[in-house]
Amino acid sequence: MNLLGQIEESFDRAAALTGHDEHILAQVRSCNSVYRMAFPIKRDDGSIEVIRAWRAEHSHHKLPTKGGVRYSPDVNESDVMALATLMTFKCAIVDVPFGGAKGGIRVDRNRYSKAELERITRRYTTELVRKQFIGPGVDVPAPDYGSGSQEMSWIADTYLTLAGTEIDALACVTGKPVSQGGIRGRAEATGRGVFYGIRAACSNEDDLRPLGLNPGLEDKTAVVQGLGNVGYNAALFLQEAGVTIVGIAEFDGAIVNRDGLDVRAVAAHRAESGSIMGFPGSQELQPPSEALELECDILVPAALENQITVENVGRIKAKIVAEAANAPTSPEAGNALLEKGVLIIPDIYLNAGGVTVSYFEWLKNLSHVRFGRLEKRFSEVSNRQILDVVAEATGANIAPGNHRIVRGADEEDLVNSGLEETMILAYDEIREARDRLGGCDLRSAAFVVAIDKIVVVYETLGIFP
Ligand code: NAD
Repeated sequence: MNLLGQIEESFDRAAALTGHDEHILAQVRSCNSVYRMAFPIKRDDGSIEVIRAWRAEHSHHKLPTKGGVRYSPDVNESDVMALATLMTFKCAIVDVPFGGAKGGIRVDRNRYSKAELERITRRYTTELVRKQFIGPGVDVPAPDYGSGSQEMSWIADTYLTLAGTEIDALACVTGKPVSQGGIRGRAEATGRGVFYGIRAACSNEDDLRPLGLNPGLEDKTAVVQGLGNVGYNAALFLQEAGVTIVGIAEFDGAIVNRDGLDVRAVAAHRAESGSIMGFPGSQELQPPSEALELECDILVPAALENQITVENVGRIKAKIVAEAANAPTSPEAGNALLEKGVLIIPDIYLNAGGVTVSYFEWLKNLSHVRFGRLEKRFSEVSNRQILDVVAEATGANIAPGNHRIVRGADEEDLVNSGLEETMILAYDEIREARDRLGGCDLRSAAFVVAIDKIVVVYETLGIFP
C-alpha cells in the first residue's frame, strides 16, 4: 500500500468512530487541488533539463494552506497528496488555522550546483505564483526533507519580486532565515516539539504503568534513528531531560552504548569525520536498522517513512514508539505493536512542532513586529520593581543583577513557550478523545480530534445534510 493509501486507511478507521455524515467525511478526506508541473532549467554546462514538480492543497476549509516542499528524486504526485493530507490533520490537532498542503520537486539535490538549485527553486515559485498556488492568504510553503532556509529565502525573494508592493509578501513562506523575516527557534522547533510530546506522554501514570514504566523521563532509555534536524534536536532535549540515549542510527550504520551516548559529541564527531561511526566508546551495528530492535524504553524513528514494518515489528522491544518522522510505521506493523501493548505517539501529533512555529513566523510577518519587542523591557522594569518591594518588605538581600528573575521574555522564549503550551494542550485533547471513545489507539484519537474540528467548519456552510 502506498503512503496515500496508508493515511486514508488511518482516516477511515478514525472516521468510523465519529458518527459524522458520510458526505462531510468524504469532503474532509478529499484532496482539493493538485498542480502538476514540468519546466525546463538550464544546467551550468548549458544543457537543458526538464524538472517535474507538484503542489497539492489538500483542504481549503481554512486558508492559507500550509506545508513543506520536498526535494527528492523519489517524490511523486501520490506522496505529495499523502503528505498534504497529513498536514491538514496535523494543523487541526495543534489548532493552527491552516489547511494542509505539500510540495515536491523531483531532484536529487546532490546532483545540482547551488546556482542550479536556485534556478529550480525560483522557477518553481514562479509557476506557483502564475497559478495562484502561493501567497500569504493562499498557500504558504515551508522546508521539508531536502530543503531548508536557503530555499525558503529564494522562494520569498522570487515572490517579493513578482508581488510588487504587497505589504504582507514576506508571509508567503516560512522557515526563512531570521535576517529575512524568519523566527528564532524555528530550526529546532520540530525536535523540541517531539520532546514536549514524549514528555507529555511519559508524565501520565495511567499510561505508563501498564507498560511497566514509572512516570517521568529521568530513568528512561531511548534509541534515535536519524541524526538530522528532527532526530538531533529531539535526542538532545531528551538527553537534557535525563533520558539515556543508548543507540543512534544513521544511514551508514548505528552506534550503541548502554551507558549513554553524548548527543552533542556524536554530532561533533560526525561533523569532523563525516559519519557517526567510530564514535569513541561505542559499539557498532550493521545494518543500521538493527538499532530499531535494541532493548530500550522509547524508540524515536526520525528519518524516513516505513521503517517499522511487518518484517521487523516482531523484533521491536521498545515500550513506546515516538513517531518523529512522517509515517515511519506501516499500518500492519502499527497494529502488531498495539497488540503487543506498545504505546505509539503518532506522527500527526508528535512532529507538529514545526508547523506550529511556522504559524508563529507567519503571524510575525503579518504583524511586522518581532515577538517580545514591545513588552520585554517593560516586563524587566516591572520585575525589578517587584523585587525592590520584596527586598524592602522582607529585608532579603536580592541582588539587582538577578537576571534569571528580572529578565523579560524575548522572541525565542515566547516561541518555545507557545510551542510547549501547544504540544501539552494537544496531547491532553487526544488522551481525552481516546478515553471518550473507550480506549482506542492514540493515532485514531488524534484523527478524531482533527476530523471533529474540520467538520465543524463544513457544518456551518449549511450545504451538507
Ligand atoms: P533531515 O534530512 O535533516 O534528517 C534525516 C536524517 O536521517 C539524516 O541525517 C539522514 O542521513 C538520516 N537517514 C537517512 N536514511 C536513514 C536510514 N536508513 N537510517 C538511519 N538514518 C537515516 O530530515 P528532517 O528534517 O530531520 O526530517 C526527518 C523526518 O521528519 C522526515 O520524515 C520529515 O518528513 C519529518 N518532519 C520533519 C519536519 C521538519 O521541520 N524538519 C517537520 C515534520 C516532519
